[in-house]
Amino acid sequence: MVKDIFDLIEKEKKRQDENIELIASENFVSDDILKAVGSILTNKYSEGYPTNRTSGNTGRYYGGCQVVDEIEEKCCDLWRKVFNTDYHVNVQPHCGSTANFAAYFSILNAGDTILSMSLNNGAHLTHGSPASFSGKLFNMVFYDVDDNGFIDMNDVKEKAEKYKPKLILAGASAYSRIIPFDKFSEIAKSIGAYFMVDMAHIAGLIATGEHKSPFGLADIITTTTHKTLRGPRGGMIFCKKELAKKVDSAIFPFSQGGPLQHIIAAKAIAAEECLQPSYKEYIHQVVLNSKAMCEEFKKMGYKVITDGTDNHLFMLDLTHKGITGIECQDMLDEHHITLNKNCIPNETRSPKVASGVRIGTAAMTTKGYKEQDFIDVAHKIDKYIDEYMVNK
Ligand code: PLP
Repeated sequence: MVKDIFDLIEKEKKRQDENIELIASENFVSDDILKAVGSILTNKYSEGYPTNRTSGNTGRYYGGCQVVDEIEEKCCDLWRKVFNTDYHVNVQPHCGSTANFAAYFSILNAGDTILSMSLNNGAHLTHGSPASFSGKLFNMVFYDVDDNGFIDMNDVKEKAEKYKPKLILAGASAYSRIIPFDKFSEIAKSIGAYFMVDMAHIAGLIATGEHKSPFGLADIITTTTHKTLRGPRGGMIFCKKELAKKVDSAIFPFSQGGPLQHIIAAKAIAAEECLQPSYKEYIHQVVLNSKAMCEEFKKMGYKVITDGTDNHLFMLDLTHKGITGIECQDMLDEHHITLNKNCIPNETRSPKVASGVRIGTAAMTTKGYKEQDFIDVAHKIDKYIDEYMVNK
């Protein structure tokens, strides 16, 4: 039985080694990170927080935590360094979704109003989907994108004034343009709302200055660690110091039990990697690659949402090609190219079918791809779509 699982891990390794990986939320971690994830730290219970915690939520509920205390404190210090901030940080969230869950409940009560991006236009499920805790527990209201696919800041302002949300949320899973955090912050201030940023996708770009930083503007910032940050699967919450105690309590004991110290060690290693000059070069190349591939699709006549990209991803609207998002995803899977279907603005199909696809360059840039490699992949995708439509 154990052998079966290791055989399957080998099979998945082969898939990851051989496929062209274009899922915008994925990446390939270093051997050091893998080593930490697979380490004996997984054996340790450490509910609570290290003794030197600035939030005041100090102390563990178990003995033997001297070493993991050091690891967790180092991890927090390193991430503050990555984002050049004195914000409080909690590195315990098991994933981005629990980070968002805890972030909301650190300052809100069930039933409170949150203004976030509409789901079909790029938001994450935890930003208000009726299928997620967020849509079930909060009164969610949404802002839209304009006809060109850009966040409509007039709509954000109008909805903020109309609904008076307690929290305004910026951040997305499928948005290819710079998010104007300064304008969001101004609107939130004008109505006395908290301002939260979910930077899960663009955290790597923020760390290296390729995207404007929300630090100093947002009250709370959540992220995953496994996308452009290229760390282990997990989440983090940053917040202004006055919210530190509330955020820590919202993670433990409110929403989680024992932290995953093997993952926290791996997060610390990821932070060290993000501080290397080579990481800055890597993220710069990710953006160059995204722009080059996106421009090539445009040259071939494809419709790109917002007509371009400023970050690590872009979305194709495939309506005029006659192929749906799910058909394109499944067809490319057979050609060992991995991406995912995506709704387009004013989507007419269900999210399970969708009219577009999302393409990201973070993972293949880690494998050494440059602009020309991505241009070649764009032509391959175009050829496979044409062949599919001829045979359909
Ligand atoms: N926030 C955003 C913007 C995301 O894109 C995602 C995942 O894709 C999440 C949160 C949730 O992260 P996780 O899958 O780790 O729960």
